[in-house]
Formats: sequence, structure tokens, C-alpha cells
Amino acid sequence: MDYNERPDFEGGIQCDTAPFDMKTPIDYKVMMDYLDACEASYPFLVRGVIGTTIAGRSIPFVRLGAEKTMKNVLYVGSHHAMEWITTSILLRFIGEYCCSYKLCRRIYSISMPFLFNNRTIYVVPMLNCDGVELQRYGVDPDFIMKDRLISMNGGSEDFSNWQANIRGVDLNHNYNAGFTEYKLLERELGIFGGGPTKYSGEYPESEPETAALVSFMRQIEPSMIITLHSQGEEIFYTSGGETTPRSRQIAKALASMSGYKLSEPEGTAAYGGLTDWFIKEFKRPSFTIECGRGTNPLPLKDFFPVYVQLREMLFTAPLLS
Ligand SMILES: [Zn+2]
Repeated sequence: MDYNERPDFEGGIQCDTAPFDMKTPIDYKVMMDYLDACEASYPFLVRGVIGTTIAGRSIPFVRLGAEKTMKNVLYVGSHHAMEWITTSILLRFIGEYCCSYKLCRRIYSISMPFLFNNRTIYVVPMLNCDGVELQRYGVDPDFIMKDRLISMNGGSEDFSNWQANIRGVDLNHNYNAGFTEYKLLERELGIFGGGPTKYSGEYPESEPETAALVSFMRQIEPSMIITLHSQGEEIFYTSGGETTPRSRQIAKALASMSGYKLSEPEGTAAYGGLTDWFIKEFKRPSFTIECGRGTNPLPLKDFFPVYVQLREMLFTAPLLS
């Protein structure tokens, strides 16, 4: 049975004005059309742009909740191109939040008007817009960087295993946290330039996507961030063994809500990521959630079960910050 038709499931509310289409794989246009529909249906939803990608796509953000509340939290999806299921998860969350707030419902015993007035949730559903489009559709024959991209992809026009942005920079290694140390490791791995994955870029925040997100975070000063990746059903909350006093406590709560296990980053995963940067810079809780289990990109049929795993976390985490 279709998820939206399941009256027994708390999330299966008939959001008649902006239904989320779970049968179409996400891409940039599907995301933007859905945000347009939400904006038209829910006047309290605030939408903006954090910056522009290399190919000129606006990177959207959504604000849920009143402008000035006690705390801001930030959710980010699709740092990595193959992980677009995380964008679908965040869009479904946006839709469900808006519909529930409009109907003054309670979700997981949380009164939606209370949540709206006491926490501001910022969502950047797709950071790597260009990368997702490249992974989904391959390179545009008229694109000025076409030959360079194919060369970075080992001469192949098959971009189905592409994770980076369209300059071949892995956005989740491009933050200013352990960048120099990672460069040494990168060279040991034989990575000397742009490619499908793990190249950190020439310098920290060299990419418009990471620079835009860092500037946005400095502006909104989140008390906590949650970054969605796929896959592994794991939660990372430390950076180089460091964390914040409250992080472990919150991480345990998130693990119990989702059934995911707590993990420590190892190898290349331990450098240059958003969680590393946020813990170092803001000294506040930050979590990397590896959504679902399987081989990336996770198939569309995984969307519903993975959303169900994460739903309580997405609604409840702001109140733990
Ligand atoms: Zn990832």
C-alpha cells in the first residue's frame, strides 16, 4: 500500500495541498517543484538560497519554525551525488512538518505549534545540486567542462559512481578541519586531483557549495547540525576523538530512536567533513547520519523504510539541542 494511503501510520497524513511523490527519483527539478508546491500551500514556510553552484544552480534552504526562537538547528542532505535519497528524506520531512503544523497535530508527543515557536529548523536538502544531476543524467553534451569531467572520470561517460561536485571535489572533505593532514593521506591513496570521490580540493572551502554553507552557518549559528549521508545505518558524532559534552548523550538518544549504531570515523572519513568542522569551529553537537543500508545509490524502494527509521529523529532532535 502506498505510504500516503496508510491511515494507520502517523506520517500518512493526507497533505492534499503538497503531496510528496515517492515514485519519482529525486533530481534538482523535482526538488524545486516540490519546494514551490510547499511554499504555495504553507505561507509560514520560509525559503531562500544559500549560494550558487558552479553550473549556476541556486542551492535552496527552507526555514521551518519562527524566525527567532531559542535555538536554530540545521539539517543538510546530498553532500555526495550518489546519496540523493537523503534529499528525498528531508523533503518528505519538510512536507510532513508543514502539514502537521497547519493541522496543529502532535507528532511523537511533540506539539507542532510548540516546536514551531521554540526551535527554528533550517534545511538545506541538496547541497551538491550539480553532482546529483551529473550522477543521475551524465554530462550535458554542451557543458563547457564536459571534456574535463570525462577526463576526471577516467575517460568514462558513465557517472553513476560519481560523488563529488562538478569540479571533482568531494565536498565532505573540503571543510577546514584536518585539511593538511588529509592532503598527506590523499596523496598516499594516489589522489592528486579532481575525480569521482575523495579529492579534497586545492584549499578549504574552495568550492562554492561549501563556502556558501559555511557562510550560512556563521549567519544562523546553529546550536546543532545533522548531516544526512548514505549508507550504513550509523551515527558519527566525534571528530578525531573529540566531541562536545552533550554530543554523546544526544547521539545515544538519536541511536535509540533510529536503531542506528554509534560509530567513530576511521581512515579518510575522519578529515575535512562538515561534522569535523562544526565541532572544531562551534564546539557544538554535530552528527553525520549514514542513512539506510545497501549499495549507493540506494534504490527508490528504500525511501519509505529509511524515512520511517529517521522520522522520529528529525522531529525530536531540535528539542534535544
Ligand atoms: Zn556521503
